[in-house]
Order: sequence, then structure tokens, then C-alpha cells
Amino acid sequence: MPKKYQFELPFDVDLAQHVRQSYPEVRTYRMVSKSLDARGAPRGRRPSFHYIIDALVTDTDTFPTAEEFPRLPEPSKRPVIVGAGPGGLFCAVRLAEYGIPSILLERGDEASKRMLHIAKFWRYGELDPETNVCYGEGGAGLFSDGKLITRIKSDLVQYVMEKFVAFGAPPETAYESNPHLGSNKIRTIITQISNWLRSRGVEIRYNTQVTGLVTEGDRVTGVRLSTGETLLTDHVVLATGHSSQDLYQELEGSGVAMKPKDFAVGVRVEHPRRYIDSIQHGDYCEASQLGSARYRLSWHDKWTDRGVYSFCMCPGGYVLSSGTERDGIVVNGMSNYARNSPWSNAALVVSVKAERDLSDPRLLAGLEFQHEIERRAYELSKKFATGRELPAMTIREFMEGKLNDRPLPKTSSPSGIFKADIRQIFPEFVVEHLKKGLREFDKDIPGFIYDEGVLIAPETRTSAPLTILRDKKSLVSVSHHGLYPCGEGAGYAGGITSAAVDGVKCALSIIEREGLLT
Ligand SMILES: Cc1cc2nc3c(=O)[nH]c(=O)nc-3n(C[C@H](O)[C@H](O)[C@H](O)COP(=O)(O)OP(=O)(O)OC[C@H]3O[C@@H](n4cnc5c(N)ncnc54)[C@H](O)[C@@H]3O)c2cc1C
Repeated sequence: MPKKYQFELPFDVDLAQHVRQSYPEVRTYRMVSKSLDARGAPRGRRPSFHYIIDALVTDTDTFPTAEEFPRLPEPSKRPVIVGAGPGGLFCAVRLAEYGIPSILLERGDEASKRMLHIAKFWRYGELDPETNVCYGEGGAGLFSDGKLITRIKSDLVQYVMEKFVAFGAPPETAYESNPHLGSNKIRTIITQISNWLRSRGVEIRYNTQVTGLVTEGDRVTGVRLSTGETLLTDHVVLATGHSSQDLYQELEGSGVAMKPKDFAVGVRVEHPRRYIDSIQHGDYCEASQLGSARYRLSWHDKWTDRGVYSFCMCPGGYVLSSGTERDGIVVNGMSNYARNSPWSNAALVVSVKAERDLSDPRLLAGLEFQHEIERRAYELSKKFATGRELPAMTIREFMEGKLNDRPLPKTSSPSGIFKADIRQIFPEFVVEHLKKGLREFDKDIPGFIYDEGVLIAPETRTSAPLTILRDKKSLVSVSHHGLYPCGEGAGYAGGITSAAVDGVKCALSIIEREGLLT
């Protein structure tokens, strides 16, 4: 059995040399975890890394080998997976490992072609409603920072990390506490995953939208496609992400059990990267071992019981226009593996409580709430720019409540930004809480409110405003047999890793329910 060692080392001390000198009994080792502690850096304390390693000490010790999966008989009808984001792809991977080829349906184009569609949108404002930043193979995470950190606790997280490595992610993905792939690496990894799936008999159909479910009483028996075709199956995994408004409407019409869920809306804040590096890493801000600096901010207003927090930070990244509808603007962030653009950005969002803030009791009122903000941003852009550029104001202007006549600082956004009073696109409680939150964040990170810091709006698609209800154990919809609500769009994930884990769980549930696994 390997032996575990845990220790902390200053960031610039060589790990291999330390192990050789301090643990001469170690024959060979494998990294289990590596996490940076730079909390004291702004006050001059030297950053350090915490390491956990598995080491082989005796000659007979070995590392455990990869799990072997029994090959199971194929079910009479292949499972159908809707959506080739991390949830759908990892569901297909796990089924295929057990010898069960599924049919994977994706409304958008394949990963390698998505950039063509997206470049037209960013450059000329020509949105393709089927292939964009949220839709297409790889899902919403394809143009992301590729952060793989998750707060969920599941043994399957390690499985997902090891799969990413097997499909081409850097080895440190499996052990770093904050692994990230960057948009450039994710794109090649997703293509590797699809190639592997095809080699295992999985049928992947691109540019194929599922327009509805086929039902018999309380059982889902198939899906209807935009091509007019119907596919019959005993298992439909619905991994369509948080933006598929048309499908939510269809599910509501079919009586699929759903309930409104809290979510959050706000802005993207963008600062010069070197500025954030210098605040967070102090005298060590030039040390390449530390990478571009991250931050995580959170404040709870106890008087109003509302949270304001940062989300999806992209150090050395880009602010993206990431909408899926022609009459709306949505922003998000991404970065490449090197995280070396001259800017760092993050979402700053305010919690929206379904019961309190949605005056409209309809099930889909949360989607309408998001869309109304997105529409207002688009109207502003059409009025003061071309409809493509993103509305923005400096943090200082936002705090003072008025625009000044100085031009905006440069931005990373390929769509461009224009100056506008973004407060008018949000309900008042969002503006007020963003202001209070920024005041608090400026205490946590002195200098966060900064002349060169810009707020770009609106960040509305932080999560689905609905949960598609499912049984906790079987993961089957509580209203419809044969339907597996999966991933972020169903309300069971909040990022790439948690969506992938949820996909694996749905696959295991199908295997069990088919009676394939004894
Ligand atoms: C710009 C951006 C950056 C992000 N950065 C990060 C990050 O760094 N780290 C992180 O953890 N998370 C990040 N996220 C969030 C992350 O991408 C999502 O949480 C994750 O992708 C959810 O996975 P999913 O499989 O549930 O859904 P999605 O990834 O949304 O995939 C759903 C798929 O279903 C398809 N689909 C939808 N409707 C239909 C239909 N009717 N028929 C057929 N196909 C359909 C879509 O085209 C899409 O490909 C980011 C998101 C965005 C937009």
C-alpha cells in the first residue's frame, strides 16, 4: 500500500528535492493534492504550497491500477442523452465504459466548429441561436476558464479528474486543489472525449435539437427532434444546461414536475491583471509559480438576508458576450490555460429569492426575470452602440451613481464595451446590494474600488432558475418514469465538474435500473 505524506513548503522550494532529502525511504511518489496558500502575501508573508503525496516505500508496494468495468449486455433500446455539455458527455462516457452505447443529441455544432459561429457573433453581432457560447458540443463550459473546482463532496470527483487527464488534460489536474484547463485545452479534450465515444459505438448527432418528449401516461418513451424524427427509448437523460428556455416551456406543457429555484444576477467586474496580482500577491506578484492571482468575495446582508458574492473568477481572462437570444445581452468570463491576458474578471452577483423577488407565481417567472434584464441591456446597446457591444461603467461611477465624461478603460471583451448607466437595467434591490457588496469587498481587498475597474452587464445566467424534480436515490423524474433530469439545467450542478459528476451518477442509475449491474 502507498504511504501518505503531508507537508507545507515555501512556493519556490523544489518538491522532488525536498522529498529526496527529507524522506530518503521514498522509492517513488504520486501527487495527491497541491494547494496554494497566499493569504499572507499582501502583508509580506511568503506564499507556500500544501502537498499531499502517496509514496511507495517498500519494493512490493504498488499504486492501485485503474478501475476495470464489467462489459454489460446492451439494453434493447439505447439510452438517449440530450445535450453534449459536461453532464451529457460524462454520462455517455460512463455508459460506454460498461459497454452500453448511447445516442447523444446536441442542438449545436461540434466543438471544433463552434469558434466560427461565435467569432461572427462577437465581431459582427450575428448570433447563431443554435451554436453559440452556451450551445454546441462541450456545452457552456467550452469557452470558459475551465475551472474544475467544485464544492460537492463525491468520490466521483476524482474519477472525473482522472478522466480529464486520460483525455489529455495536464497531469496536475488530478491533484491540484484549484485545477483549471483554460478554454484552449478544454476544446481539444472535448474532441478527444467525442472521438473515444464514437470508437465505443456512441452515436453523436450534432445540429439536432430535441423539441419535446414522447410520453405514454407517466412514462417518457422517447424524444421528438427538430428534424421531424422521433427516437424511442426507455431512458432519456436531459442534460440541456440552464439556457434552454424553449425546452423548459415544453417540459411545463408535458407536466414534468419542476419548481422555481433561487438564483443570482449581477455584473462582471474587470480590473487590470497586474493590479489584482499586486494586491493579492504583494511583493511576490512577479513569481511565476503563483500564477495570476485569484480572489473570492462574499458578503451576506443580514438585514435583508441577501448574499452578494463573486463567482467564476477568470484571472488573466476575457469578458464574453454569451447570450443565446437575439434580443438579449448576457456576459460571462473565460481564460486560456496560461491565464495571461492583461485583465482579470469575475462575476459579482446578488441572490434572487424565487419566493420573495418573483412577483409572478408562474413556474417560468425566473426565466422571464433573467430575460427582462438581458433585453434591457440589449435595448441600451442598440440605442447607444450597435447592439453588439456590452454596456459598462466604472466601479467608481457605479458607486457615485452617475457617469462622468472620461472614456472607459480598455477591455478584454472581443465584443467591445460602451459607457452606459447599467443601473437602469436591474431591479433596485440588485443595484443597492451590489453597491453595499462592493463597499465590503473594498475592505477585504483594499483598492478593489478602482478607477480602472469596470462593471460590465448583465451576468444573468449563473444557474438555472428552476429545478426539475427527481427522486434522490434513483435520479428519475418524480413525475415521469424513464426521464433523468441531469446537470446544471435541471438544478443539480453549478459548474463543469459537478455537471460531469451528475452525468456519471445518471449513467450509474440507468445501469442499475436496467438490472444490468448485480
Ligand atoms: C462563458 C462561461 C464560462 C464558464 N466558466 C466555468 C468555469 O470556469 N468552471 C466551471 O465549473 N463552470 C463554468 N461555467 C459553467 C459551466 O460551463 C456549466 O456549469 C456546465 O457546462 C454545465 O454543464 P451541463 O452539461 O449541465 O450543461 P451545458 O454545459 O449547458 O450543456 C448543455 C448542452 O445541451 C445542449 N442543448 C440544450 N438544449 C438542447 C436541446 N433542446 N436539444 C439538444 N441539445 C440541447 C446545449 O447546446 C449544450 O451543449 C461557465 C459557463 C459559461 C457560459
